[in-house]
Amino acid sequence: MSLKEILLEEDFHSIQKEGIGYIAITDGSKCRIHHVQCSNVDYYYFRTKVIENNRKNGSYYWAPSLNNLRARWKDSDDCLHCKHL
Ligand SMILES: [Zn+2]
Repeated sequence: MSLKEILLEEDFHSIQKEGIGYIAITDGSKCRIHHVQCSNVDYYYFRTKVIENNRKNGSYYWAPSLNNLRARWKDSDDCLHCKHL
């Protein structure tokens, strides 16, 4: 499966820099999927959730296509902001 959990700050930055693919942000049992370039994909939220809180409440995943993420999180929410990208 072409799904990669983002664990390191360097990975988050290089994914954002390349600007390709989609990111799933989980929060408990919920999940919201964003285009990588969505302004709601934010480094400070990533750092809080993944680094400081040690993924207790949620994680970040990257995949090259939307379908990779939708297959894993079937009832994921759409980001309203991403619709304009
Ligand atoms: Zn978004």
